[in-house]
Amino acid sequence: MAYQALYRKYRPKNFEEVVGQTHIIKTLSNAIKNNRIAHAYLFCGPRGTGKTSTAKIFAKMLNCSSDTHRPCEECENCRMFNTGSHPDIIEIDAASNNGVDEVRNLIDKVKYAPMEGKYKIYIIDEVHMMSTGAFNALLKTIEEPPAHVIFIFATTEPNKVLSTIISRCQRFDFGRVAEEDIIRRLSYVCKQEGIKTDEQTLQMIAELSDGGMRDSLSILDQCVAYCLDEIHIEDVRQIYGIFSNYDLGELFQNIAYNRIEEAMKQLQDANTKGMDLKRLTSDFISILKESIIIAFSPNSTLVSENHKQLINTYFMDSNIDLRVNLLEELMNTYNKYVYASNVLDYLESAILKVSLQNHPIQNMNSEKNIQKTKYERPDISYELASENREITENSAKNEQKQEKTAENPSDVSRETISEQKSDISKIILNNEYILQLLVGSDKKLRMEDSRRFAQLRDYMIDLDSAKYANSLLDTTITASAETYLIVCAPSDLDAKMINEMQTTDGYESFMKKILGKEKKVFAIDRNTQDKVIKEFKDRMNAGTLPSPAVVEIVKKSAVEEIMDQDNPLALFDNLQIVDD
Ligand SMILES: [Zn+2]
Repeated sequence: MAYQALYRKYRPKNFEEVVGQTHIIKTLSNAIKNNRIAHAYLFCGPRGTGKTSTAKIFAKMLNCSSDTHRPCEECENCRMFNTGSHPDIIEIDAASNNGVDEVRNLIDKVKYAPMEGKYKIYIIDEVHMMSTGAFNALLKTIEEPPAHVIFIFATTEPNKVLSTIISRCQRFDFGRVAEEDIIRRLSYVCKQEGIKTDEQTLQMIAELSDGGMRDSLSILDQCVAYCLDEIHIEDVRQIYGIFSNYDLGELFQNIAYNRIEEAMKQLQDANTKGMDLKRLTSDFISILKESIIIAFSPNSTLVSENHKQLINTYFMDSNIDLRVNLLEELMNTYNKYVYASNVLDYLESAILKVSLQNHPIQNMNSEKNIQKTKYERPDISYELASENREITENSAKNEQKQEKTAENPSDVSRETISEQKSDISKIILNNEYILQLLVGSDKKLRMEDSRRFAQLRDYMIDLDSAKYANSLLDTTITASAETYLIVCAPSDLDAKMINEMQTTDGYESFMKKILGKEKKVFAIDRNTQDKVIKEFKDRMNAGTLPSPAVVEIVKKSAVEEIMDQDNPLALFDNLQIVDD
């Protein structure tokens, strides 16, 4: 026997087998029991929710010769119906029969009495597809139908059905089938078919079918074709290229707990596997929305029990602001997908943006500072003997500051800036600190900044910028990072001048002009540079380099800075890349 698709094989044969739609089934059953049959019915609802199946069962019941109020499956009418040859039950797919002529033909036959059953029943599927002419032709028949005629219209788009027709019908709205109902039916089918699977897998299939029973069976069918008699959740994911809700929970946790790299990896993996990132985004949006609903009303019936469990496990322990921000950002991003050639870029950017708002960059860095205390403090021999006392005072001060930063980054950042500004001339560049600056630098950025510095001469003609340009004219860039650069000045005095000059007001905008963005300059002399570079190399070989320095410029928000770049992921490169 030829293979029969599961959705056909398990199409409900009686009302008991119809999944969900209990109120409709009850009303129709009562109509038959009480013999209160209308002449026209309109079944509305999403695809695969049982409209056509219900219509057929209802038709079969209406014509069944038994008086059991359910199809007996034994009488001539039932048998003819089951083989699809009942002359009085006529199915029309309006999607393919929308012409006026077809309807005329139908209407012509309406007047003849039923041949076998009690009623002549027309089931017209996708009735909204009928042309207006056909509708109008039909309307007359519906207005004064012969007693033996019953119309059952089905449509996914009731708004496209003429209101004059709707008003003559008894209307039933089929809702999406509840996940638990779908799961129950699927597990029955699996049992019948000898398919081994588990609740979690069926849950995923139910989610995928979006409340459509027929779709869920089609999905099961495809899974069976792929895995034969044992289906696991991973198989379903692979076949459908989907990110499960469980994965979404993990993704959210990664974002909430600042495991950005893991989050990015998850997205890139999903993309590599060809998963639908648009769907991932919309799923993420709806689960976030639900998590916010739950926050306000934990017992809300708007959220399914399955989702509640998931939300409680993964979402509820995080700040609601984060969820709202993420929701908003993902919605904006979703709208941009229309123009996006690379959805992954947009999605990653959105998540990075929210992550950085949630854990501002200074926060991420201050975590590194805490780590830093584990490293050994620099040996006194690395420091310049003449500045010894000052250094000790200063680094103590810095450490205090860093501790403060770690405790409450957003609070102190502003204060830190203004302090730094007045302090900058006093910053004693001990070798260890320069070393940390080197560790945090990026060769690519150095090359870029050097290229820009080559244009310093052009700024000599502008009075506002001439003095700054002049001070840097004879320097070379030792290292660059996102927020700072180290320049090597011809002499110690030149270096000091540059460091002091940064406290003046025009400096920032000058740096912005020349570098395209604000950066703090640390000037050192050649002697210091040579020493530090040698030390850098030695300690790199010994594996004892300190963690990167933290230099903050919090004018524009850190987030904007990073989002301004072409590739937001460069952020992560900078944390690791070591200059030569
Ligand atoms: Zn029967």
